[in-house]
Amino acid sequence: MPLSRWSKKHKKTFGKKEQKNESDTYRFPPKPKSYYTKIKGQCRWCGNMIMNSDDSVNKKMSWHSDCVEEYMFIYHTKETRAKVRDRDNGYCVWCGTISRKWDVDHIRPLVEQKGKDITELDYSYWKMDNLQTLCRVCHKEKTKSEATHRAVERKNKDKIKWKTFREVFGV
Ligand SMILES: [Zn+2]
Ligand SMILES: [Zn+2]
Repeated sequence: MPLSRWSKKHKKTFGKKEQKNESDTYRFPPKPKSYYTKIKGQCRWCGNMIMNSDDSVNKKMSWHSDCVEEYMFIYHTKETRAKVRDRDNGYCVWCGTISRKWDVDHIRPLVEQKGKDITELDYSYWKMDNLQTLCRVCHKEKTKSEATHRAVERKNKDKIKWKTFREVFGV
């Protein structure tokens, strides 16, 4: 069951038009084509039909219950927070303190998915296993060290390019 009081939001978006620039922001993955379905009885997440126990299509539904949970968990940060809080009980995974100011941290940072084509996206980045509770202090620290790490990697890449250039042209 979705935990937050925003958990019914998915119902008001049936038949929504696809927005072209929606995938510009890498914090959320692009939605599947079936999300924009206008067919009653088709699941907007997995795209399969929702069946009654007598094998007829259930035209009153547009989500499987598991599918709506998965969808809400990825796209509604209030829902994500509620679930992560439920699992970690509010303890910062790094320093073990409980603080009112805490963030949902992506263990492998989302920026690694930035600019990827939809076919190459790794959806496990948005799943529970990749999420942890961090207090603001630890989260800042982690973000900072990740940025430094990326900068060093970029520098090394440039160095390699430069070396190859020198090798090739002997200058
Ligand atoms: Zn489904
Ligand atoms: Zn902490």
